[in-house]
Amino acid sequence: MSAQIIDGKAIAAGLRDDIKNEVDGLGKKPGLAVILVGDDPASQVYVGSKVKMTVAVGMESFEHRLPADSTEKDIRHVIKNLNSNPDVHGILLQLPLPPHLAEVQEDLVQSIAPEKDVDGLTVTNAGKLFLGLEGLVPCTPQGSMLLIKSVEENLSGKHAVVIGRSNLFGKPMAQLLLQENCTVTTAHSRTQNIEELCRSADILVAAVGRPKMVKGDWVKPGAIVIDVGINRMDNGKLCGDVDYDGAEKIAGAITPVPGGVGPMTIACLLKNTLKAAKGR
Ligand code: NAP
Repeated sequence: MSAQIIDGKAIAAGLRDDIKNEVDGLGKKPGLAVILVGDDPASQVYVGSKVKMTVAVGMESFEHRLPADSTEKDIRHVIKNLNSNPDVHGILLQLPLPPHLAEVQEDLVQSIAPEKDVDGLTVTNAGKLFLGLEGLVPCTPQGSMLLIKSVEENLSGKHAVVIGRSNLFGKPMAQLLLQENCTVTTAHSRTQNIEELCRSADILVAAVGRPKMVKGDWVKPGAIVIDVGINRMDNGKLCGDVDYDGAEKIAGAITPVPGGVGPMTIACLLKNTLKAAKGR
């Protein structure tokens, strides 16, 4: 039997509609500032869609496009101004920064005011998530959780395996699953017997960056499979970290790539911006 396809595109569209309705009745315009340094084509595309959707839900978009040879001081200056601008409720520094800024990237992220940190990457927001306190949760894991919940409301006692332990995705995803009373295993590049581990997962989340790494026979029959990976193949098409054709015959529910987790990331960015504008 084929798995239920989790339609991230439709779920994200519904979420954006809800956000727009709330923005319309808010009495002020939430503002999202995006800082893009350099001319990386993929980042340009991401920023373009973020700006378009920000405007579409009735929010104010502030774009700061800086040249590729910008210095740490240049970016710090922009962040400082946005931190103190009352019309800006959310600040997103598009990552990765150009290679010459790699060493200061983390410091720059940490210079964003935590109450405007709509990517949820500052120590304050990461700490709040860890402690189970209200804060701004990173967008991709937040969106992935909404997709899981769209097929299964009660996750208590389920075994969740998250492949990947990045600060951006794997670690916050594991925390969110723990908050839902899952038994969580985090797998990474040094994990032994990963196939076997995955076969014991009721919820399997893959965020590795390796095309089609998770094979169909790694999936437990009936499992919920969330594919976070975005990989471009030689033919120009996108694929995930899960071998979709193999996995969808065995899983209970699965996200496609594209059209699964991807659209949820921007929708949750807007959700975080609205939350920041409301001051909670
Ligand atoms: P990342 O920082 O490169 O982390 C990748 C993780 O995968 C690391 O923890 C790494 O383990 C682990 N890994 C690498 N090879 C492995 C292997 N053979 N077996 C098991 N684990 C392995 O990447 P990321 O930022 O988390 O992103 C992961 C993927 O999600 C990428 O394809 C990215 O494009 C995609 N992504 C999508 C969205 C979206 O909106 N849909 C958002 C963010 C990311 P170690 O820690 O041991 O090195």
